Amino acid sequence: MAADGAARMNWVYAFGGGQADGNASMKDLLGGKGANLAEMSALGLPVPPGFTITTEACTHFYANERSYPPSLAEEVTQAMARLEQLIGKRFGDADNPLLVSVRSGARTSMPGMMDTVLNLGLNDRTVDGLAKLSGDRRFALDSYRRFIQMYSNVVLGLDHHMFEEILDDHKDRLAVTLDTALDADAWTAVVADYKQAVETERGAPFPQDPHEQLWGAIDAVFSSWMNERAKFYRRMHDIPEAWGTAVNVQSMVFGNMGETSATGVAFTRNPSTGEARLYGEFLVNAQGEDVVAGIRTPQALTKAGREEMGEKAASMEEAMPEVFGQFRGVVEQLERHYRDMQDIEFTVEQGALYMLQTRSGKRTAKAALKIAVEMAAEGVISQNEAVARIDPASLDQLLHPTIDPDAPREIIATGLPASPGAATGKAVFDSGEAERLGQAGEAVILVREETSPEDIHGMHAARGIVTARGGMTSHAAVVARGMGRPCVSGVGELLIDAKGRTFSARGRTIRAGDIITIDGSSGEILAGAVQMVEPELTGDFATLMGWADQVRRLRVRANAETALAARTARRFGAEGIGLVRTEHMFFDAERIAAVREMILADDEAGRGPPLARMLEMQRSDLVEIFGIMHGLPVTIRLLDPPLHEFLPHSREDVEAVAKATGLDAGKLMQRARDLAETNPMLGHRGCRLGVSYPEIYEMQVRAIIEAALAVTASGAPAPIVEIMHPLIAKGEEMRFLRILTDRVARHVMEEQGREVAYSVGAMVELPRAALCAGELAETAEFFSFGTNDLTQTTFGISRDDSARFLGAYMDKAIFEKDPFVSLDIDGVGELIRIAAERGRAVRPDIKLGICGEHGGDPASIAFCEEVGLDYVSCSPYRTPIARLAAAQAALARRT
Ligand code: ADP
Ligand code: MG
Ligand code: MG
Repeated sequence: MAADGAARMNWVYAFGGGQADGNASMKDLLGGKGANLAEMSALGLPVPPGFTITTEACTHFYANERSYPPSLAEEVTQAMARLEQLIGKRFGDADNPLLVSVRSGARTSMPGMMDTVLNLGLNDRTVDGLAKLSGDRRFALDSYRRFIQMYSNVVLGLDHHMFEEILDDHKDRLAVTLDTALDADAWTAVVADYKQAVETERGAPFPQDPHEQLWGAIDAVFSSWMNERAKFYRRMHDIPEAWGTAVNVQSMVFGNMGETSATGVAFTRNPSTGEARLYGEFLVNAQGEDVVAGIRTPQALTKAGREEMGEKAASMEEAMPEVFGQFRGVVEQLERHYRDMQDIEFTVEQGALYMLQTRSGKRTAKAALKIAVEMAAEGVISQNEAVARIDPASLDQLLHPTIDPDAPREIIATGLPASPGAATGKAVFDSGEAERLGQAGEAVILVREETSPEDIHGMHAARGIVTARGGMTSHAAVVARGMGRPCVSGVGELLIDAKGRTFSARGRTIRAGDIITIDGSSGEILAGAVQMVEPELTGDFATLMGWADQVRRLRVRANAETALAARTARRFGAEGIGLVRTEHMFFDAERIAAVREMILADDEAGRGPPLARMLEMQRSDLVEIFGIMHGLPVTIRLLDPPLHEFLPHSREDVEAVAKATGLDAGKLMQRARDLAETNPMLGHRGCRLGVSYPEIYEMQVRAIIEAALAVTASGAPAPIVEIMHPLIAKGEEMRFLRILTDRVARHVMEEQGREVAYSVGAMVELPRAALCAGELAETAEFFSFGTNDLTQTTFGISRDDSARFLGAYMDKAIFEKDPFVSLDIDGVGELIRIAAERGRAVRPDIKLGICGEHGGDPASIAFCEEVGLDYVSCSPYRTPIARLAAAQAALARRT
């Protein structure tokens, strides 16, 4: 049954008078605003009646060259007729005019992205009717001028500044500052000038026909779905274009009818702290967006709020106690009903309260945690619901030092928010210098065109990293996230002069040594030192994470190769290390010399002495990491990058290295040239190194087993050692390396006369490995899916170069999401499924995990849960995100 007993229409849903065709569960069809207006109406709350044109009409509009479904016009006419009946006014009637608002409203709120028109139906005749009806000519004209401005801007596409200038001229002429100080005659003059300006600009008078106005506004709202702002917002928030917006046509109520009228916004709890207290602002004698427009300073809703802000102007609680009491009752009812914090818009017309909007309020991560935990404590929601409500990605805000939201920001340039957190330091342009200054205890920000593996030590020494090139998964971005360093990448507007040691943007130049701050969560580079706030891992955060841990099945590990990263991982709740990239242990300035010497040696005998030095470094690092991980599993991946990455390349670098190490410059240059590959990504790397230089892997296995034995000898719990061979493609490769591994391990244990358990596995990062997982599983006891490389090799796309064209792919909707950020379930995911299945067929208890960047991405984690992997491994700072996402994935499977 439709709201008033009439037949249900196809494209239009009515609400009002204590009934509604729709309800809150119909957001897809009615948009969030429309669905909640319907719900509030049905609850019997005071909602001005109206109707919603569905999102399906919008979809139809775009699928049919911007034309409407044939029956829409008739349905709107019927709905308007019913509205007129319910209100007792007529649209366009000169004596008793019905006025409406025409409001956009998508499934999820897109604040300020789309358009709304108020006071529609006013013209030169109805404005007189409104004046007589209300007995207030000033009010009628104030409404009319608002309408002309809004309609001209939204529907006719005229610049709103034009109207503001006209209004300012009038205010100057009358020597007043506030709009409220203008009387009816003044507004009459403003309206005349507005209309004149519209006619001049447009070459036609301001439309007087209310029906023309109505369809103009409906058209504008549907069209606003495709405006640039809305498109950009959708891309940022992963909102599909196909959703479309609904249009709400609603009878007007007036907050601008004098001192007993007002308009306001409220949150049932504080959206930035989560504190359980009504929070909000209102303005007397105002309409619509005046509260947020900042023309007049709004007043607090509550007395407590006013006192806290140290304000004098009366709060709504004090100024309008009666209607405030009613309002408080309604918002409490709404929060109970929706079982969540609500963001509410309301208007008071001559002492009568009207509810204009309610929705679950946006909130900071901190507030989200507090609200969820407190609502669970209040018994409003269950613990599992609390867990399900927190957006895992939002935890990022809490896990890094962040810029004080109240601190002033002087923006130098903006790039991609590549690794969250904020950092302040001196700008440096060279990794060597970053390291020198870093070791001297100085805070530095490394600014580079882009980074390569040779910059690791500089990146490590820096507090934050900026690159002019590269995307969200560039070398800089991935390494920075792994290290927990804030990073802003792809700052296209940055002009870096590395030699001159300056960078400039927007007409401003920063020199080496100048202090800058970067915000890796917003992508901003800021001038000077900006106030920070430290992460807090106790309180509500700890409570909620505890609840999450109770329900998740997936284990969560971290990728870590330093003691610091391992400690961070544990502090954030990691249950082991899923990936130790052993090469990272050699990039250190002093250590890399041994590696270079090893690479330069002519034969196996020559590699002996430098390998012995590398063994010691590797062993001592692992002893420390095993100690920190205290009996938890640690997956150590043997050397992976092509050897040339350890060598200097430019003539200058070669000479510097030769001088520092006493190696021969000519030989160094020659070797770098010999090792250079056309396609290093697909070249001599990964386990291929182990096959062609077995002594390297033998050294590493020895280091691992010796370290494990040393730890157990000290009485600490034995680490769960997992030795992983990278870039395996064939069962035969795996078998060869398994034999090598077992032989060395056995040998070390016999030497020491003691045993330690270990397992040997394959990093699955090539399509062949996934397809032939059965072959691998004959000798591999575990698989770890290296989804960064698996994505590269499946798509044949290099992630370092993809930034150049990925944008075009996203714009054209060929990729919905960057496959290096969120796992491509259909392709890469299918390979994982196949590998899991074929691996298990041969070895039912094979251990399965994922260690790519995707291990910290909630959507990818949900996939890992579905496939039944044993664990995910991500960068240490993302561990809590993964724990929460894993819990949500487990909860989602229960229902
Ligand atoms: P947004 O989505 O940008 O908030 P809205 O459609 O909610 O846009 O409308 C903007 C403003 O106009 C809000 O403050 C709302 O309260 C007010 N408004 C909308 N419709 C009406 C109405 N029928 N009567 C009075 N005020 C309204
Ligand atoms: Mg708005
Ligand atoms: Mg609104």
